[in-house]
Amino acid sequence: MIPAAPAPLHPASSPAAPPRWQQLWRDAVRDPRELLAMLGLDASGLGVSDEAAAQFPLRVPHGFVARMRRGDPHDPLLRQVLPLDDEMRPMPGFALDAVGDGAAKAGHGVIRKYRGRALLIATGSCAIHCRYCFRRHFPYAGETAAAAGWREAVAAIRNDASIDEVILSGGDPWSLATPKLAELTDALARIPHLRRLRVHTRLPVVLPERVDDALADWLAALPWPVTVVLHANHANEFDTHVDAALARLRGTGAMLLNQAVLLRGVNDSVDALAALGERGHAAGVLPYYLHQLDRVQGSAHFEVPDEVALRLHRELAARVSGYLVPKLVREVAGDPGKRPL
Ligand SMILES: *Cc1c(COP(=O)(O)O)cnc(C)c1O
Ligand code: SF4
Repeated sequence: MIPAAPAPLHPASSPAAPPRWQQLWRDAVRDPRELLAMLGLDASGLGVSDEAAAQFPLRVPHGFVARMRRGDPHDPLLRQVLPLDDEMRPMPGFALDAVGDGAAKAGHGVIRKYRGRALLIATGSCAIHCRYCFRRHFPYAGETAAAAGWREAVAAIRNDASIDEVILSGGDPWSLATPKLAELTDALARIPHLRRLRVHTRLPVVLPERVDDALADWLAALPWPVTVVLHANHANEFDTHVDAALARLRGTGAMLLNQAVLLRGVNDSVDALAALGERGHAAGVLPYYLHQLDRVQGSAHFEVPDEVALRLHRELAARVSGYLVPKLVREVAGDPGKRPL
């Protein structure tokens, strides 16, 4: 975009200043009581847990809080981020490494589970902390592909000609600064067997300001077809800022898909799932996966039984356009791909 007048010489617009999204990232809410106060809620009786917050701290950007309903302790966005006593109850069958990532590492920050695809743990950081996430037990210190200067990860991919798709994952790969991402893709561009690049990110939904000029320019210039797999669980996670960010991503030529996790108290109704698909579609996103929860410690209160999941999925298919029905899957350690329910 060409500005009508030269930009003023202000620190915020000088090349040395950090991008605005990084400031918004730092300004995220981290105190459960502050979050509840912003929503006009009283903490007593809600089962908020300091112990759970100490184990996996609350983190939520202000823009995401603005999409929560004030005065509603059952708000589906609030439920995804609020640390609760429920998380501290040990549950049989809920483990630390529920998806077998510990056993699947093929190099520094590279996970090779499925044919043709290498998943890079680009970073451990996220702009939001989702209580149901496996990441709550993995700070990934020293195990990320970026931490090793990308070198080992790039070498692992270069040395395996069966890999034709690289998936940037994490954590959230777009929590890395754009020049750091470019460092990786410049190295990957010299590997002839790569055909596709994929990014698994929740940032365009939770902090849409991340989709700035630099990110869009980087994406548009990549030498492969790019698929961005977003993560939104509820229609209320979309707003006009998210719409603008997604329109911009589409403008780079990227394909946009969404994966959601089926979560009790968040999206476990046909109405919620239909609204999610339709709202995403209005923003240019098609549903990809609806995941059954990974059984990680502290997430049992989010679990939806398989028979309920199957019934919801059937009823959804009877209600909306075929392309708005995600695949209902579960990740099973050792399987060659996500397992359909
Ligand atoms: C989910 C996942 C993928 C991607 O699987 P798709 O079915 O292609 O979306 C790749 N690698 C790992 C390790 C995964 O967990
Ligand atoms: S990896 Fe995804 S689901 Fe997990 S905390 Fe980060 S943004 Fe949330």
